[in-house]
Amino acid sequence: MLTSTEKSVLGQITIAHSWPLIEEFSTIVREHPDECNRAAESIAARLRKLGVPVTVHEMNLRLSLPGKSGVILDGKEFRAKTPALSRAAPDGIEAELIYVPSRKDSLKLYSVDPRDMFEASFVDAGGPARIKGRIVVTEGLSNPGKLNLFEQWGAAGAIVVNPGVDIHWGSCSTIWGSPDLDNMQRRPRISAAIVNNPDGQPIIAAARAGRRARFYTHLEERWWASKLPEVRIPGTSEPDKFVLLHGHYDSWDTGVSDNATGDACMLEVARALWDNRKHLRRGVRVCWWPGHSSGRYGGSAWYVDRFWLDLDENCVAHTNCDSPGCRDANTYRDIRMHAECADFAVATIRDLTGQVASTRRPNRSSDYSFNNVGVSGFFMGTSMMSLERRKELGYYEISGSGGNISWHTEHDRNMEWADRDVLLRDQKLYALAVMRAANAEILPFDWRASVAPMVETIRGYAAQAKAHFDLSPAVAAAESMAGRVAAFQAAVAAGKVTASAANEAIQGLARVLIPLDFTVEPRTRHDPAYVTPSVPALAAAVNIAHMDTDTVPYAQNSLLRGQNRVIAACRDAERIVDRAMG
Ligand SMILES: [Zn+2]
Repeated sequence: MLTSTEKSVLGQITIAHSWPLIEEFSTIVREHPDECNRAAESIAARLRKLGVPVTVHEMNLRLSLPGKSGVILDGKEFRAKTPALSRAAPDGIEAELIYVPSRKDSLKLYSVDPRDMFEASFVDAGGPARIKGRIVVTEGLSNPGKLNLFEQWGAAGAIVVNPGVDIHWGSCSTIWGSPDLDNMQRRPRISAAIVNNPDGQPIIAAARAGRRARFYTHLEERWWASKLPEVRIPGTSEPDKFVLLHGHYDSWDTGVSDNATGDACMLEVARALWDNRKHLRRGVRVCWWPGHSSGRYGGSAWYVDRFWLDLDENCVAHTNCDSPGCRDANTYRDIRMHAECADFAVATIRDLTGQVASTRRPNRSSDYSFNNVGVSGFFMGTSMMSLERRKELGYYEISGSGGNISWHTEHDRNMEWADRDVLLRDQKLYALAVMRAANAEILPFDWRASVAPMVETIRGYAAQAKAHFDLSPAVAAAESMAGRVAAFQAAVAAGKVTASAANEAIQGLARVLIPLDFTVEPRTRHDPAYVTPSVPALAAAVNIAHMDTDTVPYAQNSLLRGQNRVIAACRDAERIVDRAMG
């Protein structure tokens, strides 16, 4: 059900201001910082013209711009791209090829050691003995974890074969945001070329035969002055608190569907909510990020670092706007978000569209730079084409651009990938969800939904580690915490907790439980840019049963420390809800 205020605000949402931004961006290749900064100024100028105050932050980001690259086999050159942040090989690398097929069911196994995790995604990768000094040929999209594994095994380089006729741009650093002294050692030292599937076949055949090939890549990597437009809309009764709506404005090529449509969507939501700010209890901030593609989420990571204390104190939720408004994207399925937000998001989608949405756990992408701080996030993306439509079009799975395979290719300059009706609906969805999160007297997030799977995960770890380590204290702490959280949410639902106490606790749980469930690094840092298993502090339990006896004591040590972290966090969470319940 929509309230009359919601109906009134949604009635003001239009594509009159947003569509022209997509048209303009379809002509600007937003890769080079000079072009990106021009795009940022265009966003700011449009906002000012609409009467919306905007601040353009300036910062230096470490960015990497891929240039020309190619693979040479039997004197024939195949077109290639190179992933951002990989090592440039302008003089070329020549070596024997080795084929390492990717598994279709990759990444099922999790591990504290990402090398194990990515090794599991190949059929017989074989380790350094096979890989060292050779050029690895494998299928997939340029995956930082896999390329990092090949680098550690001493590969001379890698050739990645994409699934279709297009070559998708990508990035290959495991460092989230611009590096610092503590993680710059992880900067990729491997060179890689990406080819399309038809060209990949003769290269795979040559690799099977153990033949040689050569590839070259050009990249320009350095610190670049970048711009980040931000709108701050004040709230009326909780002026310091805010909901953060964000998305990237740099793109591969002109990125119509990734992410000009998102930039346009945020422009319209910013306009509509600014005009209706008297209806906002809490504030709303809208940020357009630079450095998403070429700097591995550099813009959003910078914003977290720059405003960390403010985010920690005041950010009640965030939502990422990436690739809304795309052609054929008429369903809301498997939207990634934190589980405590799922009921809220599903209800919002239902109230607006009548559709029943499904949700799933966020992966490590899409400017979700807020897990270490611990901020609840709803929406990584939103609308996608249906599986039936995907099949009809013969597309493979793509996580952006509404499922259109123009994603991260030069085809994404075509306006046909954006759809006026879908954009209008998605603009309304973001406006409604942000407005509701900003206006709910009590924050609309239910921690039972996040805590239940965490308890299950910890029980699973305990069962796997059983022969080598006793995790029953962690299980007991998690079960106790889940019980207190359930009591808290029931008390909130029964109106027995004041709104201010409930909100403090709901936000407080995010600061404790999201880091516990999603991160390894401290709260003021950024976790690496690869998928982390749930409750990573205890993930050594997954592998301990298969370890050789020399390694087991190290894993036991990890679990001893991890268990302390889990129990301490569960106690913190209990204290938070107990305080709220008086
Ligand atoms: Zn995107």
